[in-house]
Amino acid sequence: MSESRRGLVLRGTGGVWHIESELGETLEVSLAGRLKREAGARLAVGDAVRIERDARDRAWAIVEILPRRSALIRRTPGGAYGERVVAANVDQVVVVFAAAEPEPHPRMLDRFLVIAAANDIPARVVVNKTDLADTEATRARFAAYEAAGYPVHYTSVVRGEGLSALREMLSQSVSTFTGPSGVGKSSLLNAMYPGLGLRVGEISRSVLKGRHTTVGAAMYPLSDGAYAMDTPGLREVGMWGIAPGTLDRCFPEFRGYVEECRFADCRHRTEPGCAVRAAVERGDVSRERYDSYIMLLHELDRTERVW
Ligand code: GDP
Ligand code: ZN
Repeated sequence: MSESRRGLVLRGTGGVWHIESELGETLEVSLAGRLKREAGARLAVGDAVRIERDARDRAWAIVEILPRRSALIRRTPGGAYGERVVAANVDQVVVVFAAAEPEPHPRMLDRFLVIAAANDIPARVVVNKTDLADTEATRARFAAYEAAGYPVHYTSVVRGEGLSALREMLSQSVSTFTGPSGVGKSSLLNAMYPGLGLRVGEISRSVLKGRHTTVGAAMYPLSDGAYAMDTPGLREVGMWGIAPGTLDRCFPEFRGYVEECRFADCRHRTEPGCAVRAAVERGDVSRERYDSYIMLLHELDRTERVW
């Protein structure tokens, strides 16, 4: 009888998968031959797997990929062909921006939120470096996201603000961190997980700064059951083959209005009887967010035509 364990895929390079086993060891494991053909391309960082140890050569191999609770998928427009699972079992996307230095870029924030929504993964916004900007002005800038229903955290690593509340929301879950470079992602992780200085240093040097040499995603165990996931693909600002007709569903504050539009296939542009545009006119939906929607819609229409 061979040894068998459950594990989590932390990262993979050149056919070697780094697994954290249920006993806490980190093992370097290959994919069992029979899985290679059927599922090899589909194994992703974040996957929960079953591994077995060969009785003779004592080497571990992944023998089963357990069902996923979520997946970040980069789709190619026009069908499943070329679909790629960027990461599995991501519980939430944490988008980090700075209140200042660098100036926040709402269009980029909207893109990240749309990608999360298109994959049915909840998202959370972190506004770091609140010590560098006027509190009222910062809150006003991000009010539209709170109104849309996104949890917004205001943090300052310098003042130690908002860190314990954020850390609480990360426990027992896999969180993908994304956002522009220099906003304080690694500083935040360092401040929230002081015991993990080395590991976090590793993240800050290689992964969260976008200087890593591997293309794939990677997952880092923190503490209290939290994992930081880095998905480099999220930073590429392409829209992942989201169908233009589904974009409105990725703006939670449009819900409730979309159903009221005169036409079922309303794209909320110039169609008569559009309830989303009416809500924008009344000030019930943020104009900036609506403008973002229109810009992304143009972009999706364009890429769909190219394809
Ligand atoms: P990353 O590229 O997103 O990982 O950003 P870093 O963590 O490397 O931070 C970029 C710079 O911002 C560093 O010089 C940090 O010391 C600084 N920084 C990070 N958090 C804060 C903050 O809350 N307030 C201020 N004033 N500076 C910060
Ligand atoms: Zn409409």
